[in-house]
Amino acid sequence: MSDDPETLRQIEELSQDDRPLLVLDVDDVLLEFVRPFPKFLEKRGFHLALDSFRLFGNVTEKAGGRTLEPQEVTVLVDDFFGEQAHWQAVTEGAADALAHFGDRAEIILLTMMPHRHRDARRLHLEALGMTYPLLTTEMAKGPAIRRLRGDRGRPVAFVDDQPRNLASALEHVPDAHLIHLMADNSLRKMLPEPPGGAHVVEDWREATPIIARVLGI
Ligand SMILES: [Mg+2]
Repeated sequence: MSDDPETLRQIEELSQDDRPLLVLDVDDVLLEFVRPFPKFLEKRGFHLALDSFRLFGNVTEKAGGRTLEPQEVTVLVDDFFGEQAHWQAVTEGAADALAHFGDRAEIILLTMMPHRHRDARRLHLEALGMTYPLLTTEMAKGPAIRRLRGDRGRPVAFVDDQPRNLASALEHVPDAHLIHLMADNSLRKMLPEPPGGAHVVEDWREATPIIARVLGI
């Protein structure tokens, strides 16, 4: 699997860091997505059925009930990310957890979204006090995490709500410590199992001591 060249360029801009590495997803790990996105859709006249964990095929017109085509859903997600500062609050417990880690780990945010939204997301996160480096990727996350770690073998922990992203990390960084955290735990039953060995946690409160232990901080 190839690397996203823009993500690699963003990684090159970071300073070399020897601290243990903590990589965090953003949507539904650091910022809420699954709670505000349906509200955004309602305002636009659409409805999201959450009876399976996917957006495509699950968005309908409130008037008439037509199911939107995938490209129409993509446009709505894109609009949502453009307006994210109005919609996306910090996930419960995330700010306390990050404050707890302080500067004992290098904390990097790795979000799968079109690169053109990077500045909007960065500004929004900074306004919320989250001044950590933010990387965007339009491809699998594993290669970016391997590159972020560098070649000095420092410990890595990765938190994501999507099992496929955890699997990608495991494929490229086999000794990474994986944490499966979801903003809405009721959706777990709709997802495939996270990779074996991943720590499945209910919330940030439960994740915090696990991250501290695996990173040795
Ligand atoms: Mg996510």
